[in-house]
This record gives sequence, structure tokens and C-alpha cells, in this order.
Amino acid sequence: MFNPLKLLLNILFPIECISCGKEGFFICDNCFDIIKINEQGSFQNECISQVHVSASYHQKVLQKLIHFFKYQFIKDLGFPLSKIITIYYDKVENKLKSPIVISVPLHKIRQRERCFNQSEVLGKFFADYFKYEFKNDLILRKVNTKHQADLKREERLKNIGNAFVIKNIDFVKSKNFIIIDDVYTTGSTVLEIAKLLKQYEANEVWVLVIAKN
Ligand SMILES: [Zn+2]
Repeated sequence: MFNPLKLLLNILFPIECISCGKEGFFICDNCFDIIKINEQGSFQNECISQVHVSASYHQKVLQKLIHFFKYQFIKDLGFPLSKIITIYYDKVENKLKSPIVISVPLHKIRQRERCFNQSEVLGKFFADYFKYEFKNDLILRKVNTKHQADLKREERLKNIGNAFVIKNIDFVKSKNFIIIDDVYTTGSTVLEIAKLLKQYEANEVWVLVIAKN
């Protein structure tokens, strides 16, 4: 759709590749192709039976992409980042059967500040690509937890406890879930959600992220 405001913004502030500066793209194909995507593999974290990491965080281009997406709020970067997740997951041989895709919810106030929820952008793209059901209204965030990045590890774990509620408990029973998020750090946030799902008899819970820090 033609968007005159977007056109004007492009003239005033031309889009350029965050890595090489080539005009017209947030990331050009050449720079995208440099990003090395992991071979399939996973690890377990308590009740999360498989945590899948799409690419190594130790790649400059990828770090930049994630940073601009998360902290400069460039929503369009959700596309190349989602592509990394789908390219990775395409390679996973024993995929989870008929999963419900969910994202990590932000508190309403936080979402208003940032205009979009980065985990939701990734989750929606992923679910569309694999034709899975995406349910972004199943889990709600109760309290506006402090910025995780500002906290020490022990504080992070405490900060997250009881932060989420399930809106529709009956929906969860016997279903498989994939939680999509951007970066896996301590895993405390996704683990909290997974525990909640398991508490209401979810079958299997997996986590799929872009990278692990
Ligand atoms: Zn480039």
C-alpha cells in the first residue's frame, strides 16, 4: 500500500543496510547471507523439553540486527530476524506436532512505549510460515516488571516470578506449545511461562529463539 508518510521519511532519512550502508535495505542480501545459521540441536531446561537456538550470538551483523530491532524499535527488522528462525526450524527433523505458537507478552504500558512487541512480531511470522496456530492472547503479563537488562541474574529470577497469567486455562490441556522469543539469556522468562503451561497440563513446551547470549 502507498504510504506518503513512509515515502517522505525515506527521502529525509534514507534506509540503509545496518552493516554495509547500502541504500534501500535495512539489511542487504549480501550481509544477510553472512549470518551463519545453526544446524539443528537443542537442550533441555527443566520443564522446557527443547530449547532451540537459531544462530550464534557471536556474529556482529546479527547482534546489530537484534539491537536495532529491540532498542531502536525498527519493526521492519522483524522480517530478516524471523527469516533466521524459519530457516533454522525448517532444518529440524522431528518437529513438534501441531504446536500452538505463543510469544512473550509485554505489559500494556511497556508495549505502548515501544509501539510493538518484538517477540510477537517474530512469533506471528513464524506461525504464518509453518501454518501453525498463533495465540498471542493466551498469556498475559500481570505486573510491569523492571527492565531485565538492568538487573543482576538473581534479581532477574525474582523479578520474573508470578509475572504471567493464563487467560484461557481450558485451552492449554494436552496441547503442544512453542514459545518464540528474541534472545535467550537466563531463560527465566520463558521458563516461567512454560511452568505455567505445564501446571495446566500442557503436553510439551519448546522454546525457539534467534540467539542465546
Ligand atoms: Zn549490507
